[in-house]
Amino acid sequence: MAYLGIFTNLFCNHQCSYCIQAKSSLDVRKNPDKVDVPQLLAFLKKNRIAHSVKVLGGESSLHPDFEPLMTGLLGLYSKVVFTTNLNGKWYEKFDTALEKMKKWGNKIVWNTSFHPGWMEADVYIERIRKIKAAGLRLNQVSTTDTPDLTKEVADKLMAANIGWALQTFTGRNKEGRMLPQTWADVNTNYPQLYSPAPYIDNYESYLANCEDADENHPPQRDTWVTCKTKRFLIGPDNLIYPCHRHLYVRDHNYAAGSIHDLGMKDFKFKWNRLLGRWNLPCDTKCNPCDFEFVKITDTKKPAVSSAIAV
Ligand code: SF4
Ligand code: SF4
Repeated sequence: MAYLGIFTNLFCNHQCSYCIQAKSSLDVRKNPDKVDVPQLLAFLKKNRIAHSVKVLGGESSLHPDFEPLMTGLLGLYSKVVFTTNLNGKWYEKFDTALEKMKKWGNKIVWNTSFHPGWMEADVYIERIRKIKAAGLRLNQVSTTDTPDLTKEVADKLMAANIGWALQTFTGRNKEGRMLPQTWADVNTNYPQLYSPAPYIDNYESYLANCEDADENHPPQRDTWVTCKTKRFLIGPDNLIYPCHRHLYVRDHNYAAGSIHDLGMKDFKFKWNRLLGRWNLPCDTKCNPCDFEFVKITDTKKPAVSSAIAV
């Protein structure tokens, strides 16, 4: 099934040391780009791409058109999965925000993550309890497993009985080792949001094919590959990308097209609507978060590879 994701903006009210975006070649947290909401809705009305849509960032609730975006998407899709740190300005008067969340109803699935460096655990716990009491669809209550999370805070989240789980960190640690490599790299004292087994069981492939978008570890592959990715990702620059790697670093060589092209006529890579996937040549490694979701095979260098004009 195709994976449709909208990265509304990459700026955020947090600056987590482990943020995947902080490792990009640009400091994209300071990237002021914001998706053009009316144009986005016009594009998606013409091209639904998938049955459901995921909205993520940065922190999407900071987008100035956040509310029109959500209302517009609810008119198009039966399910909108919204990923949030539950801590931006939009949540400041939480009871007011909650009333709006209730009006949007159960077509929204709330994926929340707690960031210990930037929020009090008690505030997060209270907000999660209110969301639960309001009967909203809460799918994710999690924290990424990094040194920012102390045992004391993890125990508090666990004891709160809010369905909290730990998300395995993927990518390089300070010493430069790609994680997770073995089960010893995983904190199994707490429930896991996703099983890290695919990374551990296929570590050689993970290491060979993935790299953080980090200048210390150049992402170039030794050989070109053909990638069949099902990710249809719309960036804050209004361009459409086949995966997280190229979106985060705004690599226009790998932008397939733009939401201004309603008919998808001038797209550089063709989207197979039937199979819901791209088929493109690529010479860079994938971001760890794309591992598991792409199918790649060796190929020859393509004759022409030019960037999308913006
Ligand atoms: S809250 Fe999420 S997007 Fe924002 S800095 Fe932290 S990890 Fe990055
Ligand atoms: S091979 Fe990896 S980096 Fe290249 S397009 Fe596919 S998912 Fe993206």
